[in-house]
Amino acid sequence: MHDPAPGTAARLTVDLGAIRRNYRRIKAALGSVPAAGVVKADGYGLGAVPIGQALWRDGCRTFFVAHFEEGVALREAMPEAEIFVLSGAAPGDEPEFAAHALAPVLNSLREVEAWAALCAKRGPRPAAIHIDTGMSRLGLPADEAERLATSPRTLGAIDLRVVMSHLCCAEEPAHQMNPRQLADFRRVAARLPKARLSLANSSGVFLGADYHFDLARPGSALYGLNPTPGQPNPMEGVALLEARLLQVRHVDPGGTVGYGAAPLAQGTKIATIAIGYADGYRRAASGRGRMMHAGREMPVLGRVSMDTVTLDATDVPDAVLVPGTWVEVMGPSRDADAVAADAGTIAYEILTGLGRRLTRRYVDG
Ligand SMILES: *Cc1c(COP(=O)(O)O)cnc(C)c1O
Repeated sequence: MHDPAPGTAARLTVDLGAIRRNYRRIKAALGSVPAAGVVKADGYGLGAVPIGQALWRDGCRTFFVAHFEEGVALREAMPEAEIFVLSGAAPGDEPEFAAHALAPVLNSLREVEAWAALCAKRGPRPAAIHIDTGMSRLGLPADEAERLATSPRTLGAIDLRVVMSHLCCAEEPAHQMNPRQLADFRRVAARLPKARLSLANSSGVFLGADYHFDLARPGSALYGLNPTPGQPNPMEGVALLEARLLQVRHVDPGGTVGYGAAPLAQGTKIATIAIGYADGYRRAASGRGRMMHAGREMPVLGRVSMDTVTLDATDVPDAVLVPGTWVEVMGPSRDADAVAADAGTIAYEILTGLGRRLTRRYVDG
């Protein structure tokens, strides 16, 4: 972990073994119900292709991405996978979806009709239908879905693989939206042709068997984020983010640090590390973030810069502050949920915002 790699400023290590163990934990919670892998936004910033291939080795056959381009990239690496595109096919893009064997998630009557028209010409092609039960973002509202149910010709043309909806509040088990969405989904799905039903995201898996139906769609839990906030995290961390220590200096009382010249009331030992907001370490963590090094806490001092962060290393022995050493920014001592809290956001945003400049490497621990 502390081997200095020449030329590397900050690096992200993704543990594919940990992702597969998280997949198995989710499957254990699901019993006999299969779990798809949600690998949108390049696998939540961690790499959709290596993660998809790792999950495939564990028996995962169905994947969800957000957009067409993500589907094309995954298809190239995984010729056999069943790949759904959550944002659906834009008007006129249907032949492109078919050419890459991508299954659109049909989010409106117009999308259903356009896909059915393509299928009428070329034969049935796989798709999912999304029923909106409260997100009001994508999907057919209940009345549109019920209207569609009276068009057996349209529906019959499509190879309808999945009927799905998406929970708004699954991470709050007592929220009244959960049973309401469950009942609405059951009622509307019963009117549509038989297909695998899918409602649960990561947190939905932990709402109990009523929410499991025929296919779960976990994303965040695969990547180690806690699907049961307020309770211990049943998942294992998968990402280690480290930055090289660049310099250590002593600043006298009355000195300043960083842009805006944050005053230092007392003498301070400052460690500067090679990561900044350009790498996805949020500027909102200025003066609030913390990192652990050799068992000691190093609070973020002053403003986070584009390429560097300054830390209060006063309590850290000089022996472990050698320039070139790796400092853990996010990992076993402070997980993505904790790093996100430092910046006033959620871990989903931290992972998907990790910068392109980071050196990425994969281990299978
Ligand atoms: C992102 C997404 C998921 C996965 O959600 P997690 O909370 O990350 O498990 C599942 N379904 C849909 C429709 C999504 O957009």
